Amino acid sequence: MKITAVISHILQYDMPEELGYSQQYYARRSAHLVEVRTDEGLTGWGECFGTGTVALANKGIVEKVIQPMILGDDPMDRDVIWHKVYNLMRDHGQKGMPLQSLSGVDIALWDIAGKIAGLPLHKLIGGAHRDKVQAYGYGMMLKRESLADHVARFADEAAAIRDMGFAATKMKVGLGPRQDVKLCEAVRRGIGDDFPFMVDANHCYTTPDAFFVGRALEELDAYWFEEPVAPEDHDGYRELRAGLKVNISGGEAEFNRWGWRAILENRGLDIAQPEVCALGGISEYLRVLALCHAHFTPVINHVWGSAVAVAANLQLLAAMPPLPGGLHPWQPMLEFDTTDNKFRDDLLVEPLDIQRQVKTSGGYVGIPGGPGLGVEPDRVFIRRYEVDG
Ligand code: CA
Repeated sequence: MKITAVISHILQYDMPEELGYSQQYYARRSAHLVEVRTDEGLTGWGECFGTGTVALANKGIVEKVIQPMILGDDPMDRDVIWHKVYNLMRDHGQKGMPLQSLSGVDIALWDIAGKIAGLPLHKLIGGAHRDKVQAYGYGMMLKRESLADHVARFADEAAAIRDMGFAATKMKVGLGPRQDVKLCEAVRRGIGDDFPFMVDANHCYTTPDAFFVGRALEELDAYWFEEPVAPEDHDGYRELRAGLKVNISGGEAEFNRWGWRAILENRGLDIAQPEVCALGGISEYLRVLALCHAHFTPVINHVWGSAVAVAANLQLLAAMPPLPGGLHPWQPMLEFDTTDNKFRDDLLVEPLDIQRQVKTSGGYVGIPGGPGLGVEPDRVFIRRYEVDG
């Protein structure tokens, strides 16, 4: 079997309302799907992390840089392909957009491998350690509104996400440390004392400000404090983890085994959040997962994007070994964005219907059982939302 084409599809639509996190507001949803075609008619699907103009630039890397390197290769040689592409791109970027682009291609090659074998991805990896996974719902995004309006909305939205059946919830912060503590207090009020919540700063704080917010999170019994400081600030992560009781999480902006080796050896993370659609795809995710477990650092995948990314992550969460194991082992969760996303809800021929699963099965989501990722994108839907790049 030979690879005959590597094609990016960039999908976009204008969202019903503008949303924000600590770095920017955004009003347009996008997704970057990668399709790898073969001479025997089998097609694999993958996804690259990166929105808007970043997705358009990544499409250039996928189609104009990576595609010519691998046309004619056997799609089953995915590890050979990974290293050929990485080694040839190394001089032009060992992190960031080249790795995001390689990720989508690698995921599509795993999808093809599963379709050739007639097995779901989790079987190719070594089997399912769990047949379902609990989902946490994130929302509580920033808007251009007053602190008082944020506080009222965050309390209501947190309660609404709990009532949708999710196992936990996650909020954004980023108005400033003192204002952010007010938001966190509002969320705890909204959900009551017993429901877990997490706080995502998207690396907006200095280390002293992160300590200020982190101490409030200890009082509020938050489960984790995500990306408190810049991903490059290894000293900050190490100091925060040593000085705070709340779990420190992060890693979605880290890439490949060498980047992950550095942040794991730094001992700055209680919970690792690798992003398979950015760090180098499934091949590299499995190496990063092994590194995390070699450091006894539990993993809760960062999940963002379309139903293709969600399906890939469900497969990986099923195949994640228990750490360290036991009768009632610590379990990973599926990250789920509760805000408007047609590319997650309506992309597939047979939708995953995650919100319904969560509502009807106590916060749990099943693992797709079809070959490869176990999902098939609807080409009519793709044509309707595809933009030229
Ligand atoms: Ca995050």
